[in-house]
Amino acid sequence: MGSSSSKAMPLPSIRRLPMYLRFLKQLNNRGRQVVSCTYIARELSVVSTQVRKDFAITGIVGKPKVGYDVPALVSAIEKFLGWNGSRDAFVVGVGGLGSALMGYEGFTEYGLNIVAGFDIDPAKVGQPMHGKMVHPLERLPEMVSHTKVLIGIITVPAKAAQEVARLMVGSGIRAIWNYAPVALEVPDSVVVENMNLSASLAVLSSRLEEVLGRHHRQRD
Ligand code: NAD
Repeated sequence: MGSSSSKAMPLPSIRRLPMYLRFLKQLNNRGRQVVSCTYIARELSVVSTQVRKDFAITGIVGKPKVGYDVPALVSAIEKFLGWNGSRDAFVVGVGGLGSALMGYEGFTEYGLNIVAGFDIDPAKVGQPMHGKMVHPLERLPEMVSHTKVLIGIITVPAKAAQEVARLMVGSGIRAIWNYAPVALEVPDSVVVENMNLSASLAVLSSRLEEVLGRHHRQRD
């Protein structure tokens, strides 16, 4: 769904890991100890060799004819994704999208803990949003330095995004999750993941067109 500045990482494999993790956690909760790639592939409608390759990037290997130890696989994937602990994050731009992200509790399952928001709107600063304080933007450097927060989420209008990114980088933020539709310029030491909803929507709508086209052809 997003695009990334990362070049060496096998991004399609990384994007599939959360799907496996969700499924493996369900198996784990049901007390299942061992699972094979074939079983996972069948249940998740993916190719078995792909599953094996995807797991390999986490460093875990299965036992031939036995499969994978489920709890070990869950741990390996969580460790690889950095979801085995919890990382704090700041949101900049507490509008429609920013406030929704601040209120979404599901991120904690993925090791992301949004601790505060920042905005320039005097009506929003000093007010809690979903129980988290919204600070004035100018306090960002001081807050990053105090808290050592490494992740910044950008949900400001496109025209303000680069300036916010510059402020984040200057403050010590090392990873930016960018929801604004703009290509950010940051130093190589900072990771940016663009949350490109239009790319995902393009896939949805083109597939709808394809399906509708097929229906038309079947009717003709
Ligand atoms: P919004 O107008 O509701 O909220 C933007 C917020 O950013 C406001 O609270 C505003 O005061 C604040 N802001 C403006 N300039 C700022 C700055 N320099 N520093 C700090 N805060 C600043 O907008 P939205 O709908 O939440 O969208 C936010 C961003 O996310 C936009 O770039 C938009 O294109 C993108 N986006 C939104 C959606 C969505 O569903 N709403 C979906 C995809 C992408």
